[in-house]
Amino acid sequence: MSHTNISPETQMLGYGYKPELSEGAVKCPIFQTSTFVFKNAEAGKAFFEMAHGKPGHDGEEMGLIYSRINNPDMEILEERLKLWDGGEMAAAFSSGMSAITTTLMTFLSPGDVLLYSNPLYGGTHKLIHHILTNFGIEVVGFRANQDLKEVEQMLLETGHAKRLKMIFVETPANPTNDIIDIEMCRKIADKYSTADNKVLVTVDNTYMGPLWQHPLKLGADIVLYSATKYIGGHSDVIAGAAVGSKELVGSIKKTRTFFGTMIDPHTSWLLMRSLETLKVRMEAAALNAEKVADYLLHHPKVEKVYYLGYTAVNKPEQSEIFNKQYLSNGAMLSFDIAGGEHEAFAFLNNLKHIKLAVSLGSTESLAEHPASMTHSDVPYEEKQELNITDKMVRISVGIENYKDLIWDIEQALEKVQVHEMAV
Ligand SMILES: *Cc1c(COP(=O)(O)O)cnc(C)c1O
Repeated sequence: MSHTNISPETQMLGYGYKPELSEGAVKCPIFQTSTFVFKNAEAGKAFFEMAHGKPGHDGEEMGLIYSRINNPDMEILEERLKLWDGGEMAAAFSSGMSAITTTLMTFLSPGDVLLYSNPLYGGTHKLIHHILTNFGIEVVGFRANQDLKEVEQMLLETGHAKRLKMIFVETPANPTNDIIDIEMCRKIADKYSTADNKVLVTVDNTYMGPLWQHPLKLGADIVLYSATKYIGGHSDVIAGAAVGSKELVGSIKKTRTFFGTMIDPHTSWLLMRSLETLKVRMEAAALNAEKVADYLLHHPKVEKVYYLGYTAVNKPEQSEIFNKQYLSNGAMLSFDIAGGEHEAFAFLNNLKHIKLAVSLGSTESLAEHPASMTHSDVPYEEKQELNITDKMVRISVGIENYKDLIWDIEQALEKVQVHEMAV
């Protein structure tokens, strides 16, 4: 019986690893080494030629050289990472930010235009506005509620629409769960692509990937991750990844070699371990999030719940995009507490189990205050327009027993004295 379509969750247990190369060890060992011994000088010469892009002689395979270029843990991790998104190749990085930086610096040149969705992860926003602009890259932000015509209009207003090089999106947006239509981005990219300038669509898939949103299948060229979040999943590593075609990820890997932004062997090993439980962790967290969201929805001290499962009610105009783009409601939610910062802080300070911390996608639930923490850098007016107000609390729901989470939220909300009840 042939069985060709093996699921990624099954592949995570062994794909890409050959026990016979490691004394029969069931698990891939940690190759904690900076450099590798060549069999002879000729082999060393051949490996370097191949590293610089020459084809190997007589089917000769590329060998291990130096851990900034290649390392077994990094390579096997990459073999596994690409499977979830159906990419041809993956590249692993020392952080989500190094994956983003290395990718953007690979494809953008002075004079190019970068179109991006707002709001973005704070680090990415800083990189785009304070570093890329120093290199002469023009940046233009658009919002989830803008349609194709409006986005194109913004692009045309730059006067350099012909220099559009990349559309960078983060969907759903953090912390409001607004959705960006990836297919719409593809349409704009195709319209401004020419024979010698393909406009790339890059998606930061940290929030919903790699399980619940597959951007490559919706027309994206490159998918990026902070593997610190769901992929790592235990709040104990910082790492990142890029997935896409051999051609594009191959180019990103070349830049990575010279930026030195690759992942290290030990972190690669930890991520391989994390990947084995990725699906069960994410599914457990999503089930919990549904229970928590429903509880919050009916609480008198809660004004509004921002949860993908409520898209049809909160933002009916985004329902169609939601249905074609997502396989789950995810495990991230935010809510507006009746009151303001004082009430939001009282809630956070009274949590007994849920940790008061930024980051997301871990086994334990984390809560934070976007307006003063993750999004403190966003200008005040922009925060208001994006609904990131002082009364908003964000929760990354973990895999605890949901009854304990609800108990914790209930007791913390009980202690909140609402000073400025809505009139
Ligand atoms: C955390 C995060 C990043 C940055 O990743 P690091 O691993 O912290 O460098 C980028 N994008 C999103 C959406 C994130 O949540």
